Amino acid sequence: MTIVTRFAPSPTGMLHIGGARTALFNALFAKRHKGKFLLRIEDTDKARSTPEATQAILDGMAWLGLISDEAPIFQSAREARHVEVALAMVEAGSAFRCYTTMEELQKRREAGEAKRKEAKADGLSDEARASLRAEADALLAPYRSPYRDGAPPPNPDAPYTIRLRAPDADTITVRDHVQGEVSIKSSEIDDLILLRADGSPTYMLAVVVDDHDMGVTHIVRGDDHFRNAFRQVPIYQAMGWNIPEFAHVPLIHGPDGAKLSKRHGAQSTLEYRDMGYLPEAMNAYLLRLGWSHGDQEIFTMDEAAAVFDLSGLNKAPARLDFDKLNDVNAHFIRAADETHLLHLLKPEIAKLTDLTDTVETRLKAALRTVKERGNTLPELAEACRFLWDSNSDNLNKKARKALREDGLTHLSNLRITLDQSESWTIDALQDVLESYCAAHTLSMGQVGPPLRAALTGGLPAPDLAPVMTWLGREEVLARIDKHLLA
Ligand code: GLU
Repeated sequence: MTIVTRFAPSPTGMLHIGGARTALFNALFAKRHKGKFLLRIEDTDKARSTPEATQAILDGMAWLGLISDEAPIFQSAREARHVEVALAMVEAGSAFRCYTTMEELQKRREAGEAKRKEAKADGLSDEARASLRAEADALLAPYRSPYRDGAPPPNPDAPYTIRLRAPDADTITVRDHVQGEVSIKSSEIDDLILLRADGSPTYMLAVVVDDHDMGVTHIVRGDDHFRNAFRQVPIYQAMGWNIPEFAHVPLIHGPDGAKLSKRHGAQSTLEYRDMGYLPEAMNAYLLRLGWSHGDQEIFTMDEAAAVFDLSGLNKAPARLDFDKLNDVNAHFIRAADETHLLHLLKPEIAKLTDLTDTVETRLKAALRTVKERGNTLPELAEACRFLWDSNSDNLNKKARKALREDGLTHLSNLRITLDQSESWTIDALQDVLESYCAAHTLSMGQVGPPLRAALTGGLPAPDLAPVMTWLGREEVLARIDKHLLA
């Protein structure tokens, strides 16, 4: 059996990080079993679905590298098939035409609420109260249509919906990889509407038909859909279709344990991109937010795809933890290949300076060392600032102090030896500095600060010899001259 999973977002907004996590779980599970990961855009709510939202979902998934194995399926394009299945169920007797109108249902509900109120009145006998309550309960209970047993239509052209006969068995059971085996009473479920009076299919029908037709074997989704599974299973049964395996994953909560909301911070996947998180960090973080495997904290996607299983899904909702996300991001920045990192970093650098060839050459040389100095891309871009900015107009106090009297003398002497140095490598430059110290019986603590002040204006930067190799001879001498000639 080929394992087929799917992600089925409704295109009504951004790609929520909870949705991204669902997509990730489905993609990994398919990959683990050499199966297929499919994408279905559930765009049947015409009022709320937009092409922009579909694009935002695709962009979010592309950023995370969660690419479906086939072109996305648009649910709205499958309406005729949904109708066909509903009619097949009528044909088979598992569904029926129901002539009850919305108004009648509304009246039934109102009558139920009125009875419930009556039952609360003062001065009723126990029996009268119990009987009113029972009447109210019956009116407010899930709907069993009189037409399920063949009652004739009220008139020949009365409009109708198509409803599924609620199962005859006492209970409906869902076996779920996270929630366990759960049963509810069939009486808790309506004769479910499959086609509305205007002929349009309901969401519940569409989901089942699409999952079946797409060959979905495993449904991994948020546990906000767990109740729906009890309505979907009877549709599979009525059609005699295989019921897929389910895993309903607890939703992501905020750091305070409350359901994730705006006040906890960004919920849109692409906002995390814009804040400077790496896609591989986001994946690794989302993965552990709801799944675990031994005590391993950080996974690459290849590592995860080799071990991802449904039994590792956690039963308790996970809490978003921004400190942890930052740690994971820092880890992936350190681990990143420099070419890849530079590609991710360029847009951030471009916000700070012109990305000239010179700047890019310096970045390429420096990144392997400088990447230790930021936990997010914007922090890292800021840590690279000394590569294009000597900060000479904006010396900090320490730098100003280092460039007084003796400091300037050392700087001036160093300029001469640096200029004369034949080789411009880290070793050669380290040697220049050490020889100068030795010749003048000075310590690096006396010689380093004026040079650092001249090169970076006091901006934090790594060791001086590598800094000088990244900047290049010409730039180093020019930065020094600025202070000597001032
Ligand atoms: N379209 C639903 C949602 O976005 C998901 C339905 C499903 O996964 O079955 O919440």
